[in-house]
Amino acid sequence: MIATLNMDITKVAQSKIDKVDFQNIQFGMTYSDHLFAADYEDGEWRNFKIDPYDDIKISPASPALHYGISIFEGLKAYKHEDGNVYVFRPDKNLERFNKSAERMCMPLLPENIYFDGLNTLLDLDREWVPNVPGTSLYIRPFMYSNDDYIGIRPSRNFKFMIITCPVGAYYAKPVKVKIEEHFVRAVEGGSGFCKTGCNYGPAIYPAKLAQEKGYDQLIWTDGKAHKYIEESGTMNVMFVIGNKLITPALGDTILPGITRDSVLILAREWGYDVEERKVEVAEVISAAKDGTLKEAFGAGTAATIAHIELIGFNGDDHKLPNVEEREFSNKVLKAMDDIKLGRVQDKHNWLHKI
Ligand code: PMP
Repeated sequence: MIATLNMDITKVAQSKIDKVDFQNIQFGMTYSDHLFAADYEDGEWRNFKIDPYDDIKISPASPALHYGISIFEGLKAYKHEDGNVYVFRPDKNLERFNKSAERMCMPLLPENIYFDGLNTLLDLDREWVPNVPGTSLYIRPFMYSNDDYIGIRPSRNFKFMIITCPVGAYYAKPVKVKIEEHFVRAVEGGSGFCKTGCNYGPAIYPAKLAQEKGYDQLIWTDGKAHKYIEESGTMNVMFVIGNKLITPALGDTILPGITRDSVLILAREWGYDVEERKVEVAEVISAAKDGTLKEAFGAGTAATIAHIELIGFNGDDHKLPNVEEREFSNKVLKAMDDIKLGRVQDKHNWLHKI
């Protein structure tokens, strides 16, 4: 892969790869040898670099540290049987990154910087893309304010980086979720549709409380009356009620997931009856009670599909049908894996070859 950016490339003296146990990878614990970095200064992007992965220097006055002026993305690369490396729908992540950038008064990231950075970094670290079943290389592009000014105003200097880490299966088993009736992740007019650090930090405490009660994750509800379902943890959420696939419609408060989009495209192609609309908590709970709730799952890059085993609401736990009996979520999980791993033809052009 030939980079078109004028890029300074400094390689590690000694790779860390021999120390990694690829059979047993813990999420986010091991980072690949290199990172890509670029600066935004004086109204333009410059200093394109590949460097050894290392700690960074940042001003103690940076608004990234004080006001959460930071945005990020999450996507994955997969190794196919023939040894080639492919990234799943990276164009969609750039599109979402730039929506987040706009909301946070940050500069847009040009397509050539993103793709040249991604291609060069992954080409250099392609040995880090694992090929053990269930594993992949997680890619984390991010941007933060590099100002040294503590006042509150749109920042002027930014750093963009891409780091990567090999990961195993995120949720090995089906998850227990609790419908949140007090805390809120996002409100209308807020920044819930962005991947900015500001949305993630405050969500940890309510999730921790739910985990102390034996749940794995929360299902977030709307900020007005906790009447409508929004997302599940860091995944979009979907339900099969009767013979319909139902998911909350996108808006200010929901992250437009790329897995969600892919699942809906496949479901519609297969002729499923798909509804994107407001989903009332009461509707899901009454469907769980009368047995018409056949499937519920989270959709996100980390797990692709995370089957929901049980939904807790208002002190009661509602158990869902066994995972083996779930037609749609098993079928779509297999179809997505087949596409990502190159076992079927990529007729949607979702794979980007490194
Ligand atoms: N919602 C939230 C809040 C998330 O953080 C994520 C993960 N990016 C998702 C949904 C799923 O999005 P995607 O399918 O693009 O990973």
